[in-house]
Amino acid sequence: MSDIPENAPQHCPGSGSAEAGKASACAGCPNQNLCASGPVGPDPAIEIIRNRLANVKHKILILSGKGGVGKSTVTSLLGHGLSKRDPNVNVGVLDADICGPSQPRVLGVRGEQVHSSGSGWSPVYVTDNLSLMSIGFLLGSPDDAVIWRGPKKNGMIKQFLSEVDWGDLDYLLIDTPPGTSDEHLSTVQYLCGGGATAGGGARAVLVTTPQEVALLDVRKELDFCRKLNIPVLGVVENMSVFVCPACNVQSELFPATTGGAAALCSDAGLRLLGRLPLDPRLARCCDSGRDYLAELPNAPAAQALTSIANEIVAACENSSQ
Ligand code: ADP
Repeated sequence: MSDIPENAPQHCPGSGSAEAGKASACAGCPNQNLCASGPVGPDPAIEIIRNRLANVKHKILILSGKGGVGKSTVTSLLGHGLSKRDPNVNVGVLDADICGPSQPRVLGVRGEQVHSSGSGWSPVYVTDNLSLMSIGFLLGSPDDAVIWRGPKKNGMIKQFLSEVDWGDLDYLLIDTPPGTSDEHLSTVQYLCGGGATAGGGARAVLVTTPQEVALLDVRKELDFCRKLNIPVLGVVENMSVFVCPACNVQSELFPATTGGAAALCSDAGLRLLGRLPLDPRLARCCDSGRDYLAELPNAPAAQALTSIANEIVAACENSSQ
């Protein structure tokens, strides 16, 4: 894995260099504080995190170029979808969105306590085979992280990733901070542990909406994955159409003026995992922590999600053979 961040200045010395954060090229770089405060050479936390996640078969980063496109919604739906699909499969959701952890609310376990033992922090169980660990459980107040600066956020993410005792998991879905911010970069670098190999490292699912402003940012995210050698399982297009729950008529709320995710996938050689319609009942379920797939299994968005979960399972199984 390159240690040059995607948004680095032209003469970036690299985050592993003794000059990291101190060279003249670092002046004004958004990662300067992070690099200056980081250890030189590979961070020992990478090895600790790798060992911690050694019993996780598939680590899937859910990424989006910008906030509000449905990354957390898709993560929670996939958590429910993958765990319902096979009761013998264990699924974990890791909510690493330090500035806006929403999984405790969306998965209906807000206010639960995280217990710590000699083997680490235990995740909160949403169902028998779906567990959640959220940075939201650890923040004193939801406003805490917003005022932290880079190195403190970085330390929190490191501790968070290295101390959760997941047990054996088939799928770990990681809801990351949006974009390519410091915390996004450190989460991904710790999880990919110096190189994402097909078997060992994390793979990515990109979430976008159909309009060009969202696709523009998702292309940057794709570039980021390619630079960090993170295999991309495919793209989910969210809020593709609105299907009226009363009359089933479909309308395009966000027209795909440049061809939407389908065109992006065909240009970039990626798999379109599926298109999730907009459904106000889904937003209501997420706001009140109810399981949309259990409540409305026949709704178009629930069916689309089931098919997306099948695509992801197939893509994971193919790429680990
Ligand atoms: P992100 O994680 O990308 O910031 P969220 O998943 O938090 O975005 O979604 C933003 C808002 O849009 C939330 O209120 C969520 O309930 C709603 N939402 C996301 N996808 C859908 C959808 N397919 N149908 C209806 N509402 C949706």
